[in-house]
Amino acid sequence: MFSPATLEERRRYYREEWSDNDLPKFIIKELNKREFGFDHLGHGPNDRYKVFKGKDSLRRFLRYKSPFAAYISVAFYNNPRRREDWLKSEYIFDVDAKDLPIRSCNCEGVCETCLSEALEVVNNLLDTLEGNLGLNNIHLIYSGRGYHIRILDTNLMEADSDLRSEILKYVAGADIPKSEYSNPLEGGTRYKIEHFSIPIAYPKIFTSRIKYNMMHLTGNEEIEGINPRLLKDIIKNRQFLENDEWGLFKSKIGPRRYKDLITAMAKVNLSSIDAKVSIDLKRILRLPTSLHSKVSMKCVEVKNRETFNPLKKAIPKFVEER
Ligand SMILES: [Zn+2]
Repeated sequence: MFSPATLEERRRYYREEWSDNDLPKFIIKELNKREFGFDHLGHGPNDRYKVFKGKDSLRRFLRYKSPFAAYISVAFYNNPRRREDWLKSEYIFDVDAKDLPIRSCNCEGVCETCLSEALEVVNNLLDTLEGNLGLNNIHLIYSGRGYHIRILDTNLMEADSDLRSEILKYVAGADIPKSEYSNPLEGGTRYKIEHFSIPIAYPKIFTSRIKYNMMHLTGNEEIEGINPRLLKDIIKNRQFLENDEWGLFKSKIGPRRYKDLITAMAKVNLSSIDAKVSIDLKRILRLPTSLHSKVSMKCVEVKNRETFNPLKKAIPKFVEER
């Protein structure tokens, strides 16, 4: 498992197992307005600017070429063959298991453990996207080594990179919440309040993200801004976080080191997601139903995000029979 697919295996997959019935509806709709890209030799997607009228011509191409990898643009164009006349783009969150800054395994590539932690991170992001931002046209794709959250809500699809970047920071928890507020009813008197004492809105998102991080630390991490001693103290005292006793936790760590800690954790939050993918309007992403040949897994749409197990749903037949 997780070893590369041979050309023979790729052929078998596209000729015997691949079916256009498995293509998600959001992919088939306006298929001819998207750019496709292919990697035939495993050196990267250098066969680009491809366009298909519909799923029949796509099926013929995949069966004939059995590519190493297949990609589809997040963008829709009036002229996809030249990537001209841009109309709109999906908004993407890309979470790759092998790039997670905090994970309990020490594997080289990906394994069952980090894949399931990637899904936990993704589910936290989805809760915020749906619960806080009210988005509802969201599709989750297992990419072969992680997850793509693909958002097709109309208002967001026309958003530019700057807005996408602002939303990314909010959903990721990339900024430390402010700790000084003022009350206009009391003549603007300023007062201080900690992020963990505010049970709503952005401070709540930030607090839950950094709690997740700290509960998942193994003690082997190298995190910028957190020295080995602080790392040890976080792990020693994190039982207070389990019961959300943040005040106690902070007093054990000490106020100065606590500031270092949340500064570092804000960076960890952002680095759990590939920000370049989120702000890129012309990105191509692995095509759902295609084969991730480096690890011999299928890229598939996730139907039930709570119970999805890639080792049950994304293993091609040729791997089972190896
Ligand atoms: Zn792993």
